[in-house]
Amino acid sequence: MKTLQECIKEAGEKGVAIGHFNVSDSEGFRAVVDSAKELGVPVIIGVSEKERSFLGVAEIRALVTVEKDKGQLVFLNADHTYSVEASMEAVDNHFDSVIIDGAEKPFFENIMMTKEVVKYTKEKYPDMIVEGELGFIGTGSMLRDEIPDGVSEETQTTVEDAKTFVHETCVDLFAPSVGNVHGLVKGGEPKLNIARIKAIAEAVSVPLVLHGASGNTDEDVSAAIDAGIRIVHINTELRQAYKKGIEKGMSSDELAPYKFMAEGVEEMKKIVTQKLKVFNKLS
Ligand SMILES: [Zn+2]
Repeated sequence: MKTLQECIKEAGEKGVAIGHFNVSDSEGFRAVVDSAKELGVPVIIGVSEKERSFLGVAEIRALVTVEKDKGQLVFLNADHTYSVEASMEAVDNHFDSVIIDGAEKPFFENIMMTKEVVKYTKEKYPDMIVEGELGFIGTGSMLRDEIPDGVSEETQTTVEDAKTFVHETCVDLFAPSVGNVHGLVKGGEPKLNIARIKAIAEAVSVPLVLHGASGNTDEDVSAAIDAGIRIVHINTELRQAYKKGIEKGMSSDELAPYKFMAEGVEEMKKIVTQKLKVFNKLS
């Protein structure tokens, strides 16, 4: 079976991006994996610190392993991990990739903590992928009235900082702040800075990751992929779809969870399928 590293390389050759979707339970997992299976594309399952503590690390790993054993290209990412210790724990738990998120920390502190996680990871599992974050884009996959405090055009990642960060830390993947925000902004998402994505992609030697892509238009995301994005993260839109589906299921007199929960899975599948088509340039 291909590794995540190989799938990312292949995405680069094809000029497409791999979808990364967060899940909190087995229903979310089912929706993401079945959608990817139907389209025949690789997919990354993301679990943040809170999502993995709700779902259970052993449980989500077991779900992923079952799919991998069937030859399905499903990978598991320890999404936004805010401390060195928790990142090391994710490495020990043998995720396919881990995100050490020091974006809220001062630049050099972020570099130091990211470097430490890279060193620990590569000594233990040389093939495991480490992603670093630079430039604050807000935390939490939620509905927002406005762009979160501390996120503006001025705080977007510069090409120079990106170069220094990637060079110093030796990360495998890099997530910059380029007009993207975590969560969904009710009044409309800011536009992605495509020129900046392109400039950073040309300046650094590693693939780029776009976080907080919920709410961004298909055109904007496609342009970001053309500019060099190789992984796109979606969470908030998936959560909205899940809730909408379950509410629909609950509004009937149905008592069987496998019936009313199934509505949530169906709604999530619509979102995942639509996004995967955009990311993988499928019609
Ligand atoms: Zn994110």
